[in-house]
Amino acid sequence: MIPLVKPVFNDKNAILAHVEKVLDSGMIAEGDQVYEFERQFKKLFGIENGVSTSSGTAALDIIYLHAGIGPGDEVISTAMTAEPTNTAILRTGATVVFADVGKDDGLLSAEGIIAKITPRTKAICVVHYAGYVCDLSPILELIKDLDIVLIEDCAHALGAKYKGVSVGQYGDYGIFSFQAIKHMTTVDGGFLSFKESAWEIDLKKIRWFGLEKGVARQDNRITTLGSKYNLNNLNASIGLEQLKSVKSNISAYISNATIFNERFTGKTYVRPASINTNSTPSFWIYSLLAKDSEKLIAYLNDSGVGASKLHTPNHLHPIFGAQSQIMKNLDLFYSELVHLPVGPWVSHDHANFIAEKIMSFYD
Ligand SMILES: *Cc1c(COP(=O)(O)O)cnc(C)c1O
Repeated sequence: MIPLVKPVFNDKNAILAHVEKVLDSGMIAEGDQVYEFERQFKKLFGIENGVSTSSGTAALDIIYLHAGIGPGDEVISTAMTAEPTNTAILRTGATVVFADVGKDDGLLSAEGIIAKITPRTKAICVVHYAGYVCDLSPILELIKDLDIVLIEDCAHALGAKYKGVSVGQYGDYGIFSFQAIKHMTTVDGGFLSFKESAWEIDLKKIRWFGLEKGVARQDNRITTLGSKYNLNNLNASIGLEQLKSVKSNISAYISNATIFNERFTGKTYVRPASINTNSTPSFWIYSLLAKDSEKLIAYLNDSGVGASKLHTPNHLHPIFGAQSQIMKNLDLFYSELVHLPVGPWVSHDHANFIAEKIMSFYD
């Protein structure tokens, strides 16, 4: 089976050697490896302000604590995402308000968002779902005079760009994930990008129980609620090795997706999910829109291809209390959706084989 997603380690021996060095040093908690990883990650992806975290979910929790989102507030989000995007909102006590997505790209847009803005709206969380990039300029324009925080969930979109600049650089905050199956894994880990450099002190306090690192415990006085959200030197040392191949791995995702885009354009029964012209997606998983998607998925699975819809649209989870919400476009998008594997483990021959199989299904 060609899996849809999987962890990628280009140089396991280098990782093992680096991890061993850190274990032997005794310095396994947050320390130099973490800070060096942060420096290199920001430089590589052109991220101005950022801190590492223990996970993408931790980064979301930090953001909502920092932004002061809580009971009585509404956060506009998308149901077309992995659950952590939205469970993080519930933990604050705020209400998740799902806006509909584009039927051809599965992404939030200014048009979908505007219908859901109320005086209670305190934040909007957009998701660059599957590595396809939301059209951010109209969204920024929409909220420019409103007291609404914009969060970009970039967990699927490492290396993706909007108008030539990394995703996560447009919102007030952005998050990335280094969980097992994302573009780059540190086994677990995450990253939080943010707009104002002055926020760094408080964000770091929230990351560490509300305490300021470097100040002696007896002299520390907690004024900001925090928790334990930090990356550690072990995961960071894995990350430092992974950064050496992350750009070439992302290129592999993109080049396989480019093959699919070419093969599926102009066809009768299938079409590529649409791509915003201002954007360069990083295609964590490829989104094909297909007639008889369920049957096509079964056929591909029988042919050894790990195709799937992967996620459950989040409004179907009773915990969001939103079962009755009408998501006309999302339902259309999801009914046609077939995710295809495009990661570095997929060769160009594999990609062409997958494309052939799909075309033969409709013959
Ligand atoms: C993976 C993921 C997260 C959470 O990241 P973790 O590192 O697993 O906590 C958040 N949002 C989306 C869209 C994700 O896919």
